[in-house]
Amino acid sequence: MQYEAVIGLEVHAQLSTDTKIFCSCSTQFGAEPNTHTCPVCTGMPGSLPVLNAKALQYAIKTGLAVNASIAPYSRFARKNYFYPDLPKNYQISQYELPICEGGFIEIKTDDSVKRINLTRIHLEEDAGKNIHEGSSPYSLVDFNRTGVPLMEIVSEPDIRTPREASAYMRKLRDILRYLEVCDGNMEQGSLRCDANVSVRPSGQKEFGVKVELKNMNSFRFVEKALEYEIGRQIKLLEEGGTIRQETRLFDASTGTTHSMRSKEQAHDYRYFPDPDLTPIITNQEMISEIQRQMPELPDAKYKRFIDLYGLPALDAEMLVEDKRLAEWYEEAVRAGGNPKAISNWIMGDLMRLLKEDNKTIDDCPIKPLHLVKMLSLIERGTISGKIAKTVFQEMFKTAKDAEVIVREKGLVQISDSSEIEKTVDEIVAANPKEVERYIKGEDKLFGFFAGQVMKATKGKANPQMVNELLKKKLIRS
Ligand SMILES: [Zn+2]
Repeated sequence: MQYEAVIGLEVHAQLSTDTKIFCSCSTQFGAEPNTHTCPVCTGMPGSLPVLNAKALQYAIKTGLAVNASIAPYSRFARKNYFYPDLPKNYQISQYELPICEGGFIEIKTDDSVKRINLTRIHLEEDAGKNIHEGSSPYSLVDFNRTGVPLMEIVSEPDIRTPREASAYMRKLRDILRYLEVCDGNMEQGSLRCDANVSVRPSGQKEFGVKVELKNMNSFRFVEKALEYEIGRQIKLLEEGGTIRQETRLFDASTGTTHSMRSKEQAHDYRYFPDPDLTPIITNQEMISEIQRQMPELPDAKYKRFIDLYGLPALDAEMLVEDKRLAEWYEEAVRAGGNPKAISNWIMGDLMRLLKEDNKTIDDCPIKPLHLVKMLSLIERGTISGKIAKTVFQEMFKTAKDAEVIVREKGLVQISDSSEIEKTVDEIVAANPKEVERYIKGEDKLFGFFAGQVMKATKGKANPQMVNELLKKKLIRS
């Protein structure tokens, strides 16, 4: 029997506001424990929360970017449960009236574009962090994270494969980064993902029993966890077993999932509207203002890069993935460089060097104008394409101008035919056996001679002139 997986994702995105969602404590990551706290975020009696306007704007901005409708009236609710990292014994979240409803995100599949519909987006506060140290008989709690603003983006069960799930996550992260509402850092937990997954025989309408997966903190882990879990459920069904509705944790070290709690033990959160916070009322003026600040989004930029610069889809896709990289690219194009040549240098040497040095485009030592100037040195024949690779590497290391590097290192291409001819003569004279073999028809030896000349000139000879001169010499001799 053929099975089909049904997957829905719940993504928590930490909003990049400077302060927490209901107080003015800093949201900075990595501070000394319990230094970013106040009576509000530590749940002191009598303290009152006040909504951070920026967190609300960010949620609306995200809603507009994913085609959701912005609720004219929404409110916060208390989600009641006890846990040591939750000092109020309830989390402020949104329940029956979220800030955004509906919307969709489009992802690329192998042969087409697929629309993944969204259920809702809501705002809530994060909890603190329990710290269990070694074998100590007690645990510690750090409240720096309590009250950090989160946005939960819930998809419909429209995803069918692990690959679609990671494509959706990537697309969502790209959008959030373009909007600058979340840094998208999965390792630091700024973007977290839970998945609801079930399987059913292909063609069946009803959903199977769903299992909730937690603890997937990279795109690769999202895929691996889902692959494992889908396989587990299918195997169980084929063996005649039944699937329990439960929450399972992904273990990255084994690539498997294991049961955390069954739904029978699930909490009843006793949601009710938070009386300390006024309802959120939005109006058209407010939404239009946010709409005006919207940047160009990844899909639009992708299309524009293809239409305007004639880039292949693969180039456009890679450049657009990172907003800052796309900006760097366009700055170079505006400075007068050839669009495809610039893209080639970015996708090849630049990405490799950045990766090797663990740098992002923001701390790239080469500025767009530097690349364009180097390209014009190639076009003018001052340096060869091969030498350019050395120059580029040096530019990356020293942040110097290409011309300065070429001058300092004596890398100017030799285009003086008498100088190249001298070297060609030397090489031909030094390899009589190879010359004889070449003349007898071993064509591939031509490359050997060209290589020897390039080696003797430290790669600086104009390759075209080397080829022409070699052809002339080798026929004569
Ligand atoms: Zn606080």
